[in-house]
Amino acid sequence: MSRQFAVEVVRQLVHAGHIAYWAGGCVRDLLRGEDPADYDVATNATPDQVRDLFGRRRTLSVGESFGVIIVLGPKGTGIQVEVATFRSEGEYKDGRRPESVAYCSPEEDAQRRDFTINGMFYDPLAEVVHDFVGGQEDMRRKVVRAIGDPHHRMTEDKLRMLRAVRFAAKFEFELDAVTAVSIREMASQVIVVSAERIAQELRKTLENVHRSRAIRLFEELGLLDVILPEAVHETVNANQERWQHILETLEALGPASFETAFALLLCDLDATVSRRAQKDASHHDVVGICRRLKLSNDETDRIQWLVAHGPQVHKAPSLSLAELKRLAAHEEFSALIHLERTFSQVTGKDPAPFERIDEFLKQTSPNQIDPPELLTGQDLISQGLKPGKMFKELLEIVRVAQLNEEISTKDEALTLVKDRLDR
Ligand code: ATP
Ligand code: MG
Repeated sequence: MSRQFAVEVVRQLVHAGHIAYWAGGCVRDLLRGEDPADYDVATNATPDQVRDLFGRRRTLSVGESFGVIIVLGPKGTGIQVEVATFRSEGEYKDGRRPESVAYCSPEEDAQRRDFTINGMFYDPLAEVVHDFVGGQEDMRRKVVRAIGDPHHRMTEDKLRMLRAVRFAAKFEFELDAVTAVSIREMASQVIVVSAERIAQELRKTLENVHRSRAIRLFEELGLLDVILPEAVHETVNANQERWQHILETLEALGPASFETAFALLLCDLDATVSRRAQKDASHHDVVGICRRLKLSNDETDRIQWLVAHGPQVHKAPSLSLAELKRLAAHEEFSALIHLERTFSQVTGKDPAPFERIDEFLKQTSPNQIDPPELLTGQDLISQGLKPGKMFKELLEIVRVAQLNEEISTKDEALTLVKDRLDR
């Protein structure tokens, strides 16, 4: 569906007398025999011409100063195609973004792209590849190579160092030797890239099943030291055997979320303090690292929870029913079990904790894991109690007894409260 629409966009541009090709990542994916996640179109039509052609109501101007217009697909499909005018980029003064852009030929547009495999065009009407950068040859040789002088290209935009690694890992390609040398030389400068862009790269890298290869490359190239110095200090340098186990586990995880993989990388760091409890933004623990990378609150909470609760999983045989249920009630519980089980398998640890958890899950319905509360604060007030510290403690005692299946009715809960108060 989205492919069909991307053909249609090119057809309309060409019909109006412009040049239009598919460009960049989608061409690479097609040549790899994969379905592109999204299609980008490059054209010599200016943004104004693109908006006139498709109509103001069917287009969005997000990056018009960079020559980018979004053309919306049929209503309700959510399909959209990015149409960018062929452009060359002016000087990069800050190593992050160009000072200006100028419209140009397809050849020159190809030159501003990062890697040869990302620098090709495809004409879907004539079904021909337009390759000005040797991308097809590098696809065949399975190489990620910077377009032009690697040192210069990495200097312009330091994020490209992380992108090179991501693509090499994802496609199981090698890094071109000269490109790799440039990255190694400049690794420390990745620090100038905004936290948001680094985090976005890290998300994409860790979501991919070849994440372990990416982390090894980050390490070899000196990039890991810059983006995750704490992990390098606490694990890589402190315990090589453990670090190798972590890398093997990253690989063995298979499909897993960014949060799961990131929690594994941070597993030796302090996660005892949650985001809510920790106000100090400069703290060097799991929450502090997530804050530095400007991860969302939701991501931070999930990662901190995963790291903090790893040790509890291994104590499963001695946990009470209530403790198991509270663990299992968390949204990240299945991710936690997957993570810890995989880690245990890699390190050949005792499988007993997982046998207990599997047994528990077989015998426990979701309603038993998190049943409605037997008592509320309102019930205690009705019993003539005044709200306060005692209140919370009583409700906790009742909840634990309920989760342990020692009580199951409101009357039993009230009796338990009276017993406690009489003591
Ligand atoms: P994916 O979306 O699978 O991560 P992609 O190649 O589509 O891969 P995008 O970030 O979506 O990557 O960018 C689209 C295209 O824009 C790239 O293929 C590349 O040609 C160009 N590009 C993106 N980022 C940069 C950059 N930092 N420097 C130079 N060119 C870039
Ligand atoms: Mg893309």
